[in-house]
Amino acid sequence: MALETTITPPLANELLCSNRFGTFFGVTQQVFDTVWGNLTNPTGNTVAYISMEIGADPDVFHPLKNFLEQQETYNNSDPQLNSLLQKYLHGPRKIPNYSGGLGVLAGDTLKSFADIHIPALAISLLYREGYFSQIVDSKVGQIDHATRWRPENTPSLFQLNDPQAPDQPLTIDIPFYNGQPKPTMIKAHVWMKMEIADRLDYFVPEFLLDYSLPDAPMWVKDSAHQLYNAKSTIIKANQRRMLGSAILPLLETLGLTAGTIHLNEQHGVTVTLHLILQELQATFGEAFLDIATDADIHATAERVSRKIVYTIHTPVKAGHDRFSRDLYSTISHRTFQRILNLLAHDDEVGHEYNFTAMAMRINRAINSVSRLHRDVTKKQFPAFSKKIKAITNGVHHLTWISDNRSTCFDQIPSLHNWRENPGCFASMSSQDLPQLSTTLQKAWSQDNQRLISYINVMLKSHRDQMIETWIDPPNHLSSLPETEWLHPGVFTIGFARRFSTYKRADLILDDIGRLSDILIKNNWPVNFIFAGKAHPADEPGKSVLKLILDSQKELYTRSNGLGKLIFIPGYDMCVAKIMVAGVHAWLNSPKRPLEASGTSGMKAAMNGVPNISIMDGWWVEGYHEGLTGWKFGHEGTVEDADLSETPDSLLYTEDANAFYELLPSVLEIFYNQPKLFLSRALSNLQLNIPIFNTHRMAAEYVKQYDLQLDPQLEVNIDRFCQLYQSEQATE
Ligand SMILES: *Cc1c(COP(=O)(O)O)cnc(C)c1O
Repeated sequence: MALETTITPPLANELLCSNRFGTFFGVTQQVFDTVWGNLTNPTGNTVAYISMEIGADPDVFHPLKNFLEQQETYNNSDPQLNSLLQKYLHGPRKIPNYSGGLGVLAGDTLKSFADIHIPALAISLLYREGYFSQIVDSKVGQIDHATRWRPENTPSLFQLNDPQAPDQPLTIDIPFYNGQPKPTMIKAHVWMKMEIADRLDYFVPEFLLDYSLPDAPMWVKDSAHQLYNAKSTIIKANQRRMLGSAILPLLETLGLTAGTIHLNEQHGVTVTLHLILQELQATFGEAFLDIATDADIHATAERVSRKIVYTIHTPVKAGHDRFSRDLYSTISHRTFQRILNLLAHDDEVGHEYNFTAMAMRINRAINSVSRLHRDVTKKQFPAFSKKIKAITNGVHHLTWISDNRSTCFDQIPSLHNWRENPGCFASMSSQDLPQLSTTLQKAWSQDNQRLISYINVMLKSHRDQMIETWIDPPNHLSSLPETEWLHPGVFTIGFARRFSTYKRADLILDDIGRLSDILIKNNWPVNFIFAGKAHPADEPGKSVLKLILDSQKELYTRSNGLGKLIFIPGYDMCVAKIMVAGVHAWLNSPKRPLEASGTSGMKAAMNGVPNISIMDGWWVEGYHEGLTGWKFGHEGTVEDADLSETPDSLLYTEDANAFYELLPSVLEIFYNQPKLFLSRALSNLQLNIPIFNTHRMAAEYVKQYDLQLDPQLEVNIDRFCQLYQSEQATE
């Protein structure tokens, strides 16, 4: 659909571009100027997307590297270009600035903005120690340590320079009020990650603030190096401020004019304090604090609201920031306290500020991330019920469809433009189905082999490294002969996500005896593959992870070696991509309705892999009986008790039993009716790719940004919106 005109691909040396902040690589100067020109246009006809984390590792999507690899090998006389080429072709491939679904969604969204040419920029933080790196020891469980990475060496990441002193990094001054009338100015450097469109004809800049400077005060250093550092509440509050307080100074220093600010979760919501402060000063002058009444502050907040779009991502309490009023008085300003008293009061806990409540109050649109989540959010925040809408999440199809599946789709005539238009799967010609079935089956088995050999290599390396590292291999299989390791073609079920207790990673291990009996009865071998990190401060989450490790031997023994339970340490986007394409089914076992959307199941669906899932989040919309996969467990209208996260309210027995009742029918189809099993994959392509992709989701958001776009772009956005209307159904 978009961009039907053919464009001649540029040469590598035409992809150098620059402006007063430095020299960059990846798009032509013309594209660069167009994008930058839009973002600095005085009309402010653009959106700034604010997120605490952005997950966009180059190893899972890197159109520029693919392009360079297709070119002749370079022997370029330009040393600057040569070193860039080396970096892009062989450089590191991770940017560990994310912890899980929220960050990956942000990255996928920005990639879709780039592909469909939305004038957008993003703002986040740069964490020199990332989130954390995970080691797993079978006796100890999860061990966390700082992630080592060097932004300097990372392709597509550039430090901005000071236009006045081009050999110096650009420094911006950010105001922090620490209980005094005047702010302390804190310095940050700025990195720009270019999120480049699949066709290299557009990009979205992500500005990452780097506060880890040598001269920074201790409290800044403590809060800057690690994402979601939870060593103290003050560190947590400071991390939020580092994002929220930097937005206006960053936009101003770079001359960016965004008319809309989209808060991806409430983490950056303190930007509204600064916006209100600015307006009060402009209206009432320096004595504003004595002159402005509460009604004036409300009216000012109302005006600021018009700039803000807000997306809430979870009904889980830990996702909603609350800070005690006493603590906040030490890190704010009298005006901020007045604003917070009026707009961040917590109706349940009087001595706390509730930042979710504040984000609910100051915005022009509130979005939830699935239809069920919309209904739950309305129940949790009845005062805003009328405003809360659903825009169901998606995933960036070009990131998550495996190379083997991509090659397969490329061969199908009616899917010729699947890269530009994921909607085309809905109108696939029936004549193409036989060919698609054959090639898809082949691609699926190649991806399964890839996953299995990835795991077998891992088992060996854990065993070999034990002598040097003293780490007990996290998998029981490492201690068995290699003939007992994994074999392709065995039914393989995957589960990978953060280890929060409500996600119940251990649900299907509730009764290992019963699970083993199911396998033994029909002599069905099954591989269960798990991965995921527990937040270092989440002791219950770490216990669930340890329980998976502790169950391996028991399952293996009781099922006579039929059930193999594997844990892959170091879950990241690359592991996710290998898993979602390599398994035969994707498992999702949260407590309903606490998984607001879930996106890993969508990544599986993009590859045609059916889900076996609780009726929660996106699956309420993606499940079609007898077509896209299977459902199990508790359903029905959501009651207040369903929102509880206490251990005894997590419904283990009931939902685990439902899983054991379902499992034999899934295995029966896989082992005895392979054609029927394959048809589940085709249904996922036809029914779920057109809906659960971020092109469609981005288009639904663009409608809320009120951008004035050129007519051809509007037409494309309307077409994506027509693929699905998230808001349509109500309970
Ligand atoms: C997709 C993804 C997630 C999110 O998975 P959910 O099913 O939404 O919990 C988390 N981590 C990584 C690395 C991912 O790729």
